[in-house]
Amino acid sequence: MQLVKEYAHLKEEDLLGRIHRAKEELGDSLIILGHHYQRNEVIQFADFCGDSLDLARRAAEQKKARHIVVCGVRFMAETAAVVCGEEQVVLTPNLKAGCPLADFAQLDDVKQAWEELQEADVGSLVPVAYVNSAVVIKAFCAQNGGISCTSANAKVIVGWGLKQGKVFFMPDENLGINAARECGLSQDKVVLWEPGKTLGGNEIEELRRAEMIVWRGHCYVHSSFAFADVERVRVKDPKAKVIVHPECPPAVVEAADGSASTSQILRIVEEAPPGTSFAVGTEVNVVERLNSEYPDKEVFPLKRSVCEDMAKIDPPGLLHILESLVAGTPVNVVHLSPEVRKWGALPISRMLYVKARR
Ligand code: SF4
Repeated sequence: MQLVKEYAHLKEEDLLGRIHRAKEELGDSLIILGHHYQRNEVIQFADFCGDSLDLARRAAEQKKARHIVVCGVRFMAETAAVVCGEEQVVLTPNLKAGCPLADFAQLDDVKQAWEELQEADVGSLVPVAYVNSAVVIKAFCAQNGGISCTSANAKVIVGWGLKQGKVFFMPDENLGINAARECGLSQDKVVLWEPGKTLGGNEIEELRRAEMIVWRGHCYVHSSFAFADVERVRVKDPKAKVIVHPECPPAVVEAADGSASTSQILRIVEEAPPGTSFAVGTEVNVVERLNSEYPDKEVFPLKRSVCEDMAKIDPPGLLHILESLVAGTPVNVVHLSPEVRKWGALPISRMLYVKARR
């Protein structure tokens, strides 16, 4: 910890110079993966920038790199660790950079809910773990015949799950409800599960009637967008297209011109003709980066919303782990038990398989 404090007091030019030198020294044995929501001061060092699934895929492809540094929150580093090779080491610049959305689904609560649902005999359940969940939740899903989904493919995966049984979706209620709507489920077929309450706060009959049970949880970055934000933009800039992330509340998604995952938003902006204006409802770093990357288009935040947890990754933390690698004493390594490693990747492989068959 003392060491990190020393890094924090370095002058910016020293800090950046030392990161570049450490990267150079580590050469091909290192790859740095950066999530889109990272600040520019971090993303400038990333060899690859993407959303959580892109990062995991990239990690799996890195056969040469012995060390994979994930500049993202904990579940992203865990996901990279389950999909990469056993001889590879995944590190994070800050072990405390977690995701409050992922934290909504704690393994004990999920196991308890699962048992209650089995005892209540609500029908055959298909657990679906949004990729923004802890690896132990993904492993639990895999052990119970489940699958993962991303914000880009939630509709496809929920649609697939509904053909197999009753979908038990975790941990984002907005994404779950938005996907249910897209699959054509009426409101009375979707119930919310409140962890800690008996039967998640539902009557047995409601659970039996439901086609989808959605865990109560949300991302504070995306749930901060409101219907009023869309209305305000419509008045102020009627030509702007409003695109929001599907973790936004259903009323916002409905009022917008479209909902799209971060990677899809990037593509939409890239492909739009010059002069197009977008109000984007997602983390502000990616919106501001898009605006500077496409000066012939206008891209502005629907409202400024920052992920404070992503912001826990910073250049001093990055330098700390890079120099630990140079010294041969790596710090902040992501450790997973062989059991979790074995099961954690399975729902992601299932998701890719289902997606590929469509
Ligand atoms: S933006 Fe939301 S889902 Fe993503 S890391 Fe931050 S809190 Fe978690």
